[in-house]
Amino acid sequence: MKIESELAQIGSLKEPVTGAVSFPVYQATAFRHPKLGESTGFDYARTKSPTRAVLEEAAAKLESGDAGFACSSGMAALQTIFAYFSQGDHLIVSLDLYGGTYRLLERIMSRFGVTASYVDTNDIDAMTSLLTPNTRAILIETPTNPLMMITDLERVCSWAKSKGLLTIVDNTLLTPYLQRPLELGADIVIHSATKYLGGHNDVLAGLIVTKGEALSQEMAILHNSIGAVLGPQDCWLLMRGMKTLALRMERHQFNATKLAEFLMEHEAIEDVYYPALPHHPGHDTQNRQSSGNTGIFSFRLKDARYVEPILRHIKLIAFAESLGGVESLMTYPAVQTHADIPEDIRQAIGVDDRLLRFSVGIEHIDDLIEDLDQAIAAAKRELEG
Ligand SMILES: *Cc1c(COP(=O)(O)O)cnc(C)c1O
Repeated sequence: MKIESELAQIGSLKEPVTGAVSFPVYQATAFRHPKLGESTGFDYARTKSPTRAVLEEAAAKLESGDAGFACSSGMAALQTIFAYFSQGDHLIVSLDLYGGTYRLLERIMSRFGVTASYVDTNDIDAMTSLLTPNTRAILIETPTNPLMMITDLERVCSWAKSKGLLTIVDNTLLTPYLQRPLELGADIVIHSATKYLGGHNDVLAGLIVTKGEALSQEMAILHNSIGAVLGPQDCWLLMRGMKTLALRMERHQFNATKLAEFLMEHEAIEDVYYPALPHHPGHDTQNRQSSGNTGIFSFRLKDARYVEPILRHIKLIAFAESLGGVESLMTYPAVQTHADIPEDIRQAIGVDDRLLRFSVGIEHIDDLIEDLDQAIAAAKRELEG
């Protein structure tokens, strides 16, 4: 089946008792055993629970993996993955990283002796020079957020394999509808399902998908032992969202492309960072390894003084953190999502006070362009008196 059909049918053919087309919420933590030594397959809900199992099976299938694990948030999924490593282990990590992942590594994992080096994950020479005998894995975001840098996954996965490293890919921004890292050689995919997979800014969730039997078994032990699992109601909400993922991603990327093109032509804008634009350095790689583009881009204003009035004057577009929902949101990364990243690193990667990130929703493109246009015009009027 094509992925659109897999998505639409999540859970639909799985409920044998009533034939319910929407898979039910099994709000239960304990499951009766038929007799000593027998189990229905469900014993205690932290280990395995029916609604979650349907979601996890779907996630594994969509990402072409062997096992899926639903977690209480994207950060819970990352923490579960990081618990795979031991004291002294070293990770190579994308430089332009989600702020929460950076914080988890630097403030918490570092106290347990797991260290990370941050680098452009396309730069094989730089990564080779960072290798130590204790380097165990590489963690890649592609595209990165907010600067939308693209990593050539096939090339980097094969390098990692040759060095005996695991490759972990945060696939939040593209989703399996547009990019499947396990097919390109990665070992673990992680999602903040709070974003596009859920898609409606209403459920916090994370997903892990693993490839290979040993890794999948180890991840099952970590998932059950740590217990940061997703509850049945949220599993249901997430599956409900995922059913329309294909339609939403098509509209997100259509709108984002039109808006990025509009801003490229605008006199107040210095540059737009979006891999769908031909001048983006990752354009060709992105086209080769993915079947489309995310709905997020960033843009840099020529003048930092525009930021405050633009955020005050947008009406339809909300000034809010997060991304990937049907509603358009605009974020100021330097003070919101990336506030925990030190100033010098932020400046080095270009997350400065002129950069805004736009998570483009599925509203009508004309309304979005009009809202942005009037907000920039209002900012200009104020600044020029
Ligand atoms: C939001 C996000 C996370 C963290 O996920 P939560 O669901 O907020 O815990 C991790 N990685 C990326 C790329 C994200 O956008």
